[in-house]
Amino acid sequence: MRGTVCGFVVSCLMAGSALAAPASHLQAETQALSLAEKAIALRSVEGPANQTPQVAALFRDALVQGGFAPSDITITPYRDTAYLIARWHGTDPSLKPLVISGHMDVVEAKASDWTHDPFKPQIVNGYLLGRGSTDMKLDDTLGIASLLELKREGYRPRRDIIIAFSGDEETEMNTGQAIAKLLDRADLVLNLDGANGVLDERTGKPIYFSWEGAEKSYADYRLTITNPGGHSSEPRAVNAIDELAAALLRIKQHRFKPELNDLTRAYFVSAAQWEAPATGAAMRAFAADPTDEKAIATLSADPALIGRIGTTCVVTMINGGHALNALPQRATANINCRIFPGHPRPEIAKELQAAAADPALTVEDVTAGSVETAASPMRADFVKAVEHGIHSVYPGMPVFPSMSSGASDSMWYRYNHVPSYGMSPLFIKPSESFMHGLNERTPLASIRPAIDAMMVMVTDLSH
Ligand SMILES: [Zn+2]
Repeated sequence: MRGTVCGFVVSCLMAGSALAAPASHLQAETQALSLAEKAIALRSVEGPANQTPQVAALFRDALVQGGFAPSDITITPYRDTAYLIARWHGTDPSLKPLVISGHMDVVEAKASDWTHDPFKPQIVNGYLLGRGSTDMKLDDTLGIASLLELKREGYRPRRDIIIAFSGDEETEMNTGQAIAKLLDRADLVLNLDGANGVLDERTGKPIYFSWEGAEKSYADYRLTITNPGGHSSEPRAVNAIDELAAALLRIKQHRFKPELNDLTRAYFVSAAQWEAPATGAAMRAFAADPTDEKAIATLSADPALIGRIGTTCVVTMINGGHALNALPQRATANINCRIFPGHPRPEIAKELQAAAADPALTVEDVTAGSVETAASPMRADFVKAVEHGIHSVYPGMPVFPSMSSGASDSMWYRYNHVPSYGMSPLFIKPSESFMHGLNERTPLASIRPAIDAMMVMVTDLSH
């Protein structure tokens, strides 16, 4: 790969900062980047060599050096991983705390598939490359560096600010579940593992910022047909595999009712302008009337949008039969659903059962490690704080909510009735978002405005 490799962190930040305002928090920017590089070099992947506990120790040391009392920081080991909770005490102990949420683990990455070692961070052509540069070690360190900069500036929050970083968000989510239970008295969660700012593909200029106030719930259902079976030379009228196949086709034909909530309505109205004209028109029409069949047809045909207009269910695995020459005694399939916020899993199971229209078919909820959650409310103080933060670096930038189709630690906070908002302060091009994928990278130019915006948001939500 050809590219400029920076020798010094500061010169890299300067080189990549053409988009942003002049330096105001250089120490924080430098710290965010250098801590992120150190964290990326620690292989915090689930398994026996998991270095998540070392990432937690790295972050703890930085917080202590920045003025956190060691007694206000705990690292709790859990199986091969750990989670970190650090508290900055506010002046008014009667107020509920503000939580800054993140995770320290990353998705596995194979060096042989990448252009370079994913666990040897590099700075090339103005990008930080490495596993976790986007999801989400740089976000973690932006959070830490912003708080420490506020501390250096003498800021004193009224409510406690708690850094809560989980250690298995990409796999089991047990630590996120434990943290959310411990912090169930929190006022609000800023989850840095979330939507982000978007850069124009062609010009690289920031065009909008979105945040996530809801997530679809994940669910798995096992469908089973059993049958007495018998010898394959003596076929019967009913065959378990045939019967299951027919039920699956009926489920494929079934459409869950298209629906809207406050967040998705705001998303469609605001995001329509950046879509192709036909898609944009459908988004506006659907936001105005979620029964508009023409709009539903257009949005349903787009894999990136179908999940935003309702619950989706799709068959992901099948299994059946036990011998080449026997009538199948059992056939099973897994139906994976992404449930629109507000619907309990048993309701979806019932709907699948009805769609299958076969009394011999059983539907069993086999979901592991997931709970259904309602959307977080569009809380005015949060909306104002995020707009204030983003507008302080990008005046007039459109800021609007969205709904995530995947799960994050926000699920566990919402489950405990704590409003949680996903928002990464970084701006990236959609085509350059390689989260969970190959050659993950984030533009360094994003660091400066992210620090500035974070400091404003955290101040607004804690003063
Ligand atoms: Zn993540």
